[in-house]
Amino acid sequence: MKAALARSLIVPALLLMAGPLAKPATAQGSSTPAIESAFQAILASPKVSKTLEDIKADDARTLAEQKRITEIPAPPFKEKVRAEYYLKRLQELGLKDASIDGEGNVIGLRKGSGGGRPKLVVSAHLDTVFPEGTDVSVKEKDGAILAPGIGDDSRGLAALLSLLKSIHANELATVGDVMFVGTVGEEELGNLRGVKALFRDHTDIDGFISIDGLGISRVVNQATGSHRFEMIFKGPGGHSFQEFGLPSAIHAMGRAIAKISDLQTPSDPKTTFTVGTVVGGTSVNAIAGEARMAVDMRSNSTEELLKLEARLLDLVKVAVAEENARWKSDKMTVEIKLIGDRPAGIVAMDSPIVQATQRAVSAITRGPRVTFAGSSTDSNMAMSLGIPAVTIGGGGEGGNWHSRNEWYKPVDAWFGPQNALLTVLMLAGLDGVTKPVLAVRAGK
Ligand SMILES: [Zn+2]
Repeated sequence: MKAALARSLIVPALLLMAGPLAKPATAQGSSTPAIESAFQAILASPKVSKTLEDIKADDARTLAEQKRITEIPAPPFKEKVRAEYYLKRLQELGLKDASIDGEGNVIGLRKGSGGGRPKLVVSAHLDTVFPEGTDVSVKEKDGAILAPGIGDDSRGLAALLSLLKSIHANELATVGDVMFVGTVGEEELGNLRGVKALFRDHTDIDGFISIDGLGISRVVNQATGSHRFEMIFKGPGGHSFQEFGLPSAIHAMGRAIAKISDLQTPSDPKTTFTVGTVVGGTSVNAIAGEARMAVDMRSNSTEELLKLEARLLDLVKVAVAEENARWKSDKMTVEIKLIGDRPAGIVAMDSPIVQATQRAVSAITRGPRVTFAGSSTDSNMAMSLGIPAVTIGGGGEGGNWHSRNEWYKPVDAWFGPQNALLTVLMLAGLDGVTKPVLAVRAGK
């Protein structure tokens, strides 16, 4: 590491505007020699210094773009208008052949000098959780910018455009191909339909970055998988007094909930469950003919998620059988519908994508602290396929996710695209300067 530190002293003066960027990562252990030498070589390139500066200078315009994107509604399954705008922007900023695929994703490929590999995707999601008709106009109050979706994921979309614009303007030539993507269907019932289609159509993707979330010191390298079910209990129903003796849908569901409540799950890998909503019955003096509940199960391990699911579904069936047995009936049934399916996965701490991201973050923030976390994002799909992936922040601060009171403050917002730039260049390689640290996947 001594060599790296010594070299950091000759970082171009331009970079020092923002302080010494070359401080090595230490919190989770120093980066490997291969990552460190790629990082130092990239940082020593005058073109890269200029690009980092340009990103900072582009900050106000990026924020204006973020607001512009936010004001184009993009409800689940209705991302088309925003997708068309995003396509136009990718084309204007240098990707003339960008297009919208069959699922609705906006895709623009920036070719490298390496004949197409490795191929790295950098993406942000187009969709929001907000239904049609939601007021998405941007307002400002007490220094905060307020609008549904202003951070999630308009910031990621805008950061991606700033990255593309500055890479293109400075003619940075990567070795690997970089695919810029705006995905559909990341949120909730979209069930990652955009990235699922992306990986189905492009089997040669070697690495995946999602820009989703804000602060850059939090990096997602674990995909929290989730399975969600709606369970509909149905029975004969009847008057609570005259027809006493019939099985009740609510009682059956209550038995199921009691059993689910007692389930034990591991804390590592974190595995969780909850009955999130219940609804049912028609009146206080009627034996319920129908009751429904929605159940959420999550884990950072696919194996644990499937184990939990098998046990939970079995308990529901046992509960129905017990309700029937209690009243010597066979009229109680349950219908189980899968309403959410996100795969789980994990990317090892020593994998080049995690190492490169960690190196870039600690350089940009000039601090060693990088928090690694599990979350449910577009990266889940890549991770579940064994494709190296991370989800990184787009820059700035914010809160009240998925609420109409979502807020954003552009504090050091340019850190987002700057961090993405350094990470992308390490992974894809900079022509004539460094080789890609991202490996080409064997057999693909
Ligand atoms: Zn998001």
